[in-house]
Amino acid sequence: MSVSVWRDFSKSDPNAASLRVDVAIIGAGVAGLAVARHCVQRGLVPAVIEARDLAAGATGKNAGFAMTGLADPYESLVERFGRRTAKEIWTVSQANLREIVDDVVACEGVACDLVPYGSVVAAWDEREQAVLERSCAMLVHDGFDVRWLDRAASREKLGSDRYFGGIFVAQDHGIHPVKLAHAVAANVRSAGGHVLLGHEVRAIEQSRGAVSVHTSHGTIHASFAILCTNAYTRTLEPSLGALVRPVRGQALCLEGVDDSLRALLYTDDGFQYARPLPDGRVVAGGWRRAFADSEVGLGDECPEGVQAGIEAWLRDRWPQWSSARVTHRWSGAMGFSPDGLPLIGTLADRPRVAYAVGFTGHGLGFAFAAARAAVRKVLGEGDAGIFDHARLQ
Ligand SMILES: Cc1cc2nc3c(=O)[nH]c(=O)nc-3n(C[C@H](O)[C@H](O)[C@H](O)COP(=O)(O)OP(=O)(O)OC[C@H]3O[C@@H](n4cnc5c(N)ncnc54)[C@H](O)[C@@H]3O)c2cc1C
Repeated sequence: MSVSVWRDFSKSDPNAASLRVDVAIIGAGVAGLAVARHCVQRGLVPAVIEARDLAAGATGKNAGFAMTGLADPYESLVERFGRRTAKEIWTVSQANLREIVDDVVACEGVACDLVPYGSVVAAWDEREQAVLERSCAMLVHDGFDVRWLDRAASREKLGSDRYFGGIFVAQDHGIHPVKLAHAVAANVRSAGGHVLLGHEVRAIEQSRGAVSVHTSHGTIHASFAILCTNAYTRTLEPSLGALVRPVRGQALCLEGVDDSLRALLYTDDGFQYARPLPDGRVVAGGWRRAFADSEVGLGDECPEGVQAGIEAWLRDRWPQWSSARVTHRWSGAMGFSPDGLPLIGTLADRPRVAYAVGFTGHGLGFAFAAARAAVRKVLGEGDAGIFDHARLQ
């Protein structure tokens, strides 16, 4: 099993119960915990039911980029979804980010190792430069607070002279995702919610206006259930298998670097990324493009090719890091939706069971906004907006 740098902080918290609650939430990743947080804010009693540990899935394996929008350039989003939806995607993810930074971290006084440097989506080559310059102009036109960095300005932020400029988004942050998960779980517990760790959900039944969630430790009775199982969804609900494709993402942590990287960096159409940690190390990942056929499934091994690719990229673009040492290598299973946006819906045969899955590499960017939409959806208060599964039908 591969272990991420964030897990140095995590510890298990097993407990057991058979409960009666308002909302049973399956999965204690950022999505399930955000749903639980929203439930307690609405006066509903949630139980998060997790087979392993807090943030045991992709939430404890990611790179901690809390970013606006999707990895795809704005121009591509406009082509794929239309201008109105592309604008809505950015607006929703901005609100999600504000909720993390202003509410969860600032108001609730939680230290999540925030790195407030902003992000640079940098051009890998002249082709990407042209796409990103057009995207930047469209974003400015649509009212977003972004600006174009020319080559010299991007060198200043990135500590590398190999990029062809980029889009700077000042409000983006780096975060410690496992500390975030622990903070939200503590908030949920202190507000009367339950977080059950080491409880595997084996089946969910609906009868007479309620659901029964059968776990390895007993049955939880609830008015509604919400699946937040992302890449693992098909193992519990095979009917959703075609909707969420498990894709492996890999990352590593490098120590002994200088502080020349002063922003979260996304580049090569979002396929490569790197960011500084508050303690001076760098977390970097990607290199999946060349291994698209093999980097799939739920396994969290770290095949050498991808890791070697990430390392070679870092050493090539930042020659000043030639003597840096890799301290952690890890991988995690992401749940890819068909169009890259999270999916929220209810099961056709059990309408009291909803799902909020398919975060496609952007769980930190959307989970808190998606949580509101998922609760609204399962309570029958309206659709789930840009996340609603209906968009694919
Ligand atoms: C290497 C890597 C880098 C990434 N970088 C970023 C990034 O920088 N920014 C970003 O926004 N996103 C990033 N992502 C994606 C991000 O991690 C995910 O989108 C996000 O964590 C999804 O959260 P989740 O809660 O939906 O799923 P998960 O965190 O995977 O949680 C699902 C949980 O469900 C539990 N579960 C499954 N089945 C059952 C069951 N039957 N019973 C009980 N529990 C069950 C699992 O154990 C798991 O804990 C990255 C992912 C990887 C792998």
